Amino acid sequence: MNPPRSLSRREFVGHLSLAAAALALPGRLRGAAAPSDRKKLGIALLGLGGYATHQLAPALRETRFCRLAGIVTGTPAKAESWRQRYDLPEHSVYNYDTMDRLADNPDIDIVYVVTPPGTHRDFVVRAAKAGKHVISEKPMATNVADCDAMIAACRAAGKKLSIGYRLHFEPHHIEMERLARDPHFGPFTRLRGGFGFPLRGRQWRIDRKLAGGGPLPDVGIYVIQAARRAAGTWPVAVTAREEPKTRPEFFNEVEEAIRFTLEFPGGEMCDGFASYNESADLFHAESAQANWVELAPAYIYGGIAGRTNRGPMNLPNLNQQAAQMDDFARCVQDNRESPVSGEMGRRDIATLEAIYAAAASGKRVEVKL
Ligand code: NAD
Repeated sequence: MNPPRSLSRREFVGHLSLAAAALALPGRLRGAAAPSDRKKLGIALLGLGGYATHQLAPALRETRFCRLAGIVTGTPAKAESWRQRYDLPEHSVYNYDTMDRLADNPDIDIVYVVTPPGTHRDFVVRAAKAGKHVISEKPMATNVADCDAMIAACRAAGKKLSIGYRLHFEPHHIEMERLARDPHFGPFTRLRGGFGFPLRGRQWRIDRKLAGGGPLPDVGIYVIQAARRAAGTWPVAVTAREEPKTRPEFFNEVEEAIRFTLEFPGGEMCDGFASYNESADLFHAESAQANWVELAPAYIYGGIAGRTNRGPMNLPNLNQQAAQMDDFARCVQDNRESPVSGEMGRRDIATLEAIYAAAASGKRVEVKL
């Protein structure tokens, strides 16, 4: 294997060790006991929309420690087609009225809530009361009070709560976090990132009550997460500015695009951007010594690519959702907290609330973590 021409031998060797170190982290999964040694945990998907259908259900087939064991849906036709497709027993198919009967179903250990954010609180609380561990999709909720209720319900039931932050199990993001902590590379002080796509068609994403906002909670939250991981801490204050709307009649309840700046305790700054009118998929982190890492695309399901000032990251893409669900199954089995906990989700919602307050006031707003 020859070093790429743009790298010196020393840089190349350094890069190999970085790549090996990053690969070792998803190896937390590879190093685990064989599936036959452990009971696969049963997951019920709640809300059979786009993400559950096209990402989570197929990913469950690639997991080692869990399996699709049930569904909760408000659409009878989906109940029947999923039951047949995934060979689910009749007694593990629920609707939103019958889901409290999950309490009597030992085949289901975990409920994965995949509905619009404004509905997460009620579904998470009901799943916890039915005695199930819960994964809530991101954003965790539309306000901090709902996050508190979700955390409290899971705690009261003695059940674990996790957020669908799939990129915590993604090699490039794991490597970026490691580089930030490496004293020969990081820490990162200047950060910037953007995530956006042109949104078409009326749906919950432009309904304030269901979505909690526009592109900020839906895709801007990925930039906040990446920045938080690159900075190794939480933002303490924010400023923000909503972009002028090009389709005000369409975006009549939520922002169309927004820019925000996150300020971290050590003075690190992140310029962020979230949009429903243009495409963006990038994260860049730079140290005071001009070391940098850039992920582009940074947030998609497969095909994340990264470079540093030393050259390409050369890391694999894996099934992020399978890795995420497997990690949660192992958290349940090993009785440890999820690294993407309800508390983490709550802090992000507190950050979103601060960004909206800053955009509304035009002032710097402290984040109430
Ligand atoms: P979707 O519109 O495709 O599906 C939403 C589902 O929720 C539908 O089946 C709908 O019938 C159901 N639903 C239940 N109660 C509802 C209500 N009161 N109003 C409207 N729909 C209701 O949306 P999606 O893209 O699957 O998103 C669902 C969740 O997953 C959201 O929280 C979203 O942010 C999240 N998501 C996460 C990722 C990721 O990469 N982690 C990607 C896409 C979506």
